[in-house]
Formats: sequence, C-alpha cells, structure tokens
Amino acid sequence: MSRPRVAVIGTGVIGATTTWQLARRGADVLAFDTYSPGHDRGASAGESRIFRTAYKEGSNYVPLLRRAGQLWRELETTASAELLTMCGGLTIGPADHPDVQAVQQCAEEHDLDHEVLDADLARKRFPQHRIDDDEVMVLDPAAGVLRPEPAVQAALRAAAEAGAKILPYHQITEVAETAQGWRITSAGKDFDVDHVVFAPGPWAHRLEPLRSLPIEVRRITACWFAAHDPAAHRPDRLPIAIRRHREAGFSCFPLLDGVSIKIVPHHLGWPALPDPDELPRSAEPEFARAASAAAQRLLPGVTPHPVRIGTFAEGFTPDEHALLGPLPGHRNATVMTGFSGHGFKLAPVFGEIGADLALRGSTEHDITQLAPHRFARA
Ligand SMILES: Cc1cc2nc3c(=O)[nH]c(=O)nc-3n(C[C@H](O)[C@H](O)[C@H](O)COP(=O)(O)OP(=O)(O)OC[C@H]3O[C@@H](n4cnc5c(N)ncnc54)[C@H](O)[C@@H]3O)c2cc1C
Repeated sequence: MSRPRVAVIGTGVIGATTTWQLARRGADVLAFDTYSPGHDRGASAGESRIFRTAYKEGSNYVPLLRRAGQLWRELETTASAELLTMCGGLTIGPADHPDVQAVQQCAEEHDLDHEVLDADLARKRFPQHRIDDDEVMVLDPAAGVLRPEPAVQAALRAAAEAGAKILPYHQITEVAETAQGWRITSAGKDFDVDHVVFAPGPWAHRLEPLRSLPIEVRRITACWFAAHDPAAHRPDRLPIAIRRHREAGFSCFPLLDGVSIKIVPHHLGWPALPDPDELPRSAEPEFARAASAAAQRLLPGVTPHPVRIGTFAEGFTPDEHALLGPLPGHRNATVMTGFSGHGFKLAPVFGEIGADLALRGSTEHDITQLAPHRFARA
C-alpha cells in the first residue's frame, strides 16, 4: 500500500508536533505555513511557556499532560535541543481562591506530589513574590518552563529528518474536497492529498471549511521587567507561577534572557481582534501602566516599568477548551484549533492525537471534552 499523503495547514506548535508525529509514522507529509517556523504573529512565540501537571483547567487533562511530558523529552533527544526546564510551578493566591483550590484538588485526585506553603514559609522559600498574610503557594514539582520558538523548530527539524516536506511562506488560500481526499492551493499551485490536518491557530476563519467554528481571536500581551538580581530569578531559583491576587492576576516566567522576567497579565483582559493580521504590535500606555502597577505590588525584585512588551494572537472557544477531532461535515479532515491560551504544554500529545486521527481515524487518548461538534446546535 502506498504511504498516505497528508497536508498539515499551519506549523505553529500544534501543526509542527503533528507533522513530526505523522512523519515518524511513515506518512508522506506536506506542512504549510504563511510565515516561517517560530514566527511571532500567532500563538507559539514569546520566549517561554508554562508546563504544569496539577491542572486547574480540569483534572481529566492529567493523563494527557503526563504523556506530553514524555514526548517533550523524546523531542529533545531526537532533535538535540533543550526545550523544557523543570523548575517547578507555583499557584499563588488566597487559600480559598478557586484556582488555588482546583490545583490542590487535582493534585490530590491524581496523587501528584505537591506542597502547600503558608504565607511565612512562602516568603522564606520564594522571596521574589510578595505575599499577603492570607495567601498560600501550592508547589507542583512536575512543572517547568518551555521554550516555544526552539520547540517549534525542533519538531519541524525532527519531522524533516523523518521525511516531511516543510513549506514556509506557503499560505493556503483554497481547500476543496475531492473524490479521493482534498485539493489545497497555495500561490496558484495545487496539491492533492488523502487527508488534511487543519492547524491554523487563530486564522481558522480564513479557511472556508472552518468558517462556522466558534473561534474568537484574542490578543494576549506579555511584559518583561528587568530583575535587580538576575541570579535570583533564574529557573533554578524561581519556578513558573500562576499568580491570583485580589488586585491582579498573571502568569510569571523565570529569567531566560539574562535580563528580565516575563509576566502575562490576566486581570487586564485579552481583547478580541477582528483578525490575527490586525494584531497591534505594541500595548496601550494604560495597559503598560496597569501591568507595571501589578509588578510593583507583587514582584519586589524587578524594575517598575517593562523593558519589553510583546503581543500575540490566539484562538479561543466559548468554553476555553480546544477543538480537536474529525472536522464535522467532512471526510478525511482533522481540525486542531482554539487552544484558548493553554495549548502549548500539551502540543506533543495533541500532535500524537492529530496523527492518530489522520492515519487511523481514532485515538486511544480521551478527547471527548475537545470534540469539535460540541457547539453544534441540537
Ligand atoms: C502570550 C501567550 C502566552 C501563552 N502561555 C501559555 C503557557 O504558558 N502555557 C501553555 O500551555 N499555553 C500557553 N499559551 C497558549 C499556546 O501558546 C497556544 O495554545 C498554542 O501556541 C497554539 O498553537 P497553534 O499551533 O494552534 O497556533 P499558532 O502558533 O498561531 O499557529 C498557527 C499557524 O498556522 C499558520 N496558518 C494559519 N492559516 C494558514 C493558512 N491558510 N496557510 C498556511 N498557514 C496558515 C499561521 O501562520 C501559524 O503559524 C499562550 C499563548 C499566548 C499567545
């Protein structure tokens, strides 16, 4: 039997890991992207991403997270790249905050190692954070920091070594179902394939078969603040953190650039965009001032104003869980989009699932809650 020919549309982290998984299983893969691998216009860039195992977003993700952790290590070995630093992870906030409670519940349910530090202990162990008296830290040792741009490149390098054809600067402008599979078009050139994996991130609405999917494009802004004592903010001393405070909320990443730590404010909102190509490349002064106020209040060891700001586009679904499965209403098509601000850490297992669906039509992983048809009207 001839090798199945699969097109992957989009090589952000989801398309890149899927391409890797398809190629290592012997498929004839063509992977297309409008831009270059690791570019900064979509959702898979910005220096760092959180990996955690005790998951406030739902404890049914834990088996997927465990598998993702193994696959990140495999990718590191295959591509000779350092991608995931296990620096541990903190969830910080009032003891009765729903996210603090959800993380503890998830850890208990799955018997995951974790430690709950009261305010005194938290201040001693992690003085990089300012803690109120009624706040706690939940420490998840199975957490760390991922490097997004090298990760995308590593997955595509591994895929290319396994025989995949990577086609940057190839925007897909048309897709049409044929009797045998699909015909897809880029710059006037047609490619006939048996199966299409749609992994377009926030650009989903640009592709006709995905137009009715409930994906909202949002802007997520990250701010970097210079550390007074860089050594105290490196991953060996500062875990990743999800900070929940009465006045502010953000995710926090250790120093990787030799200069600054990154926060992604949550409390200032992630505004909707009409289209990812309309992403403003800088933040408004009010946003920078509010982010600075949060950093000054909660991170005593950093400069008051950001030294760097980055904006990124991401696709969100109404329930903030991805759309992952066969594309409703079509044959020979898999859709993977709407990762809603938390897809990076899981990308290699999503890639494994994408390859299962493209090559076998099913997967052993439980992805019920990600079914693309769940929003279809009854
Ligand atoms: C600032 C920020 C912080 C985040 N923090 C975390 C975190 O700490 N931990 C975590 O797990 N997750 C995090 N996330 C979420 C995670 O990064 C995303 O869920 C993930 O990167 C989504 O990847 P993707 O491949 O779906 O999308 P993208 O990376 O946007 O990739 C889609 C690709 O498809 C290409 N494309 C689209 N249409 C076409 C077309 N017609 N033809 C060809 N190519 C096309 C685009 O050019 C793009 O390269 C964060 C997201 C953001 C934005």
